[in-house]
Amino acid sequence: MDLPVFDSGQIVALRPAKNRVSPDRPYAWMIEPECDMQGNLQQVVTLFLTGSECPFRCTMCDLWKNTLDGPTPVGAIPQQIEHALSDLGVDPESPQEAGVSTIKLYNSSNFFDKRAVPQEDWQAVCDLTRNFETVIVENHPALSGDVVLDFQGKLAAQLEVAMGLETIHPDVLPWLNKQMTLEQFYGTVQQLIQHGIRVRTFILVKPPSLTESQGVDWAIRSMEYAFDCGVECCSMVPVRAGNGTMDQLRQDGLFEPPLVVSLEQVLEAGLQLKRGRVFMDLWDRDLFGGCDACREQRLERIEDMNQTQAISPRVQCDVCD
Ligand code: SF4
Ligand SMILES: [Zn+2]
Repeated sequence: MDLPVFDSGQIVALRPAKNRVSPDRPYAWMIEPECDMQGNLQQVVTLFLTGSECPFRCTMCDLWKNTLDGPTPVGAIPQQIEHALSDLGVDPESPQEAGVSTIKLYNSSNFFDKRAVPQEDWQAVCDLTRNFETVIVENHPALSGDVVLDFQGKLAAQLEVAMGLETIHPDVLPWLNKQMTLEQFYGTVQQLIQHGIRVRTFILVKPPSLTESQGVDWAIRSMEYAFDCGVECCSMVPVRAGNGTMDQLRQDGLFEPPLVVSLEQVLEAGLQLKRGRVFMDLWDRDLFGGCDACREQRLERIEDMNQTQAISPRVQCDVCD
């Protein structure tokens, strides 16, 4: 693999400035459609909570942009949840009236890091979500263990943990500085599912040093591995620039974001596996490469496949086919 290795200090030194965020507001909140395990399209509350920065320093991560430098103040997380639910018109006593039953409490870090989510706030979080059917939080395998089971014990809803597998490429995974092994990921998923906790994972599409076809191939292999571990849902994340390190690599000709056709290929292959749900994250839809004549149609096709979990008819393009 032909990539410079960055340590945590170098990764931080290359960063642009953080965004201005406040501990009394999530930095984003929305209701978005997501296909459930039964194949029905549901409306899901997604909160991007503002909290303490993740202690890991992954080379491709830009989530630190919307985090606080110090620990999350006690009381801030419940206050943020209340604010966002009220703004979305969701009554925590009866979220079903607003057509929602799942809530994602994403915090750009790890829910089970005490600096990010103070345990003093657990009870308030559990109270605010007690009428939801599913609560999804993010975590790193190194921060998993009995603490997750303690939280599950307080929670009325089904707990689902989202953990980044990122890639199973044997050179790229250590290069990511994620400080996680595949064995650790496998063991953590096993422990969670044995306790009735569902697991979804994030998988990178085309990390640096991989060609376009290798990017597709390793994303598919990584999905297969995740499903082998017992993961129920794979959320595919096209790698993007913007965090300093990735921009540096791009400038040096060592990274280019994936093409839209590659995202289609990965999603199609994932759905064909029929081993669980597969979603392609289209948050930065303007950043992907590809043919201008058909990119919108292809992105729409991906959105369609995300929502139906079925393969949509292929796009025909006179320019690039
Ligand atoms: S563990 Fe997750 S949140 Fe933390 S740096 Fe890595 S990708 Fe970012
Ligand atoms: Zn085209």
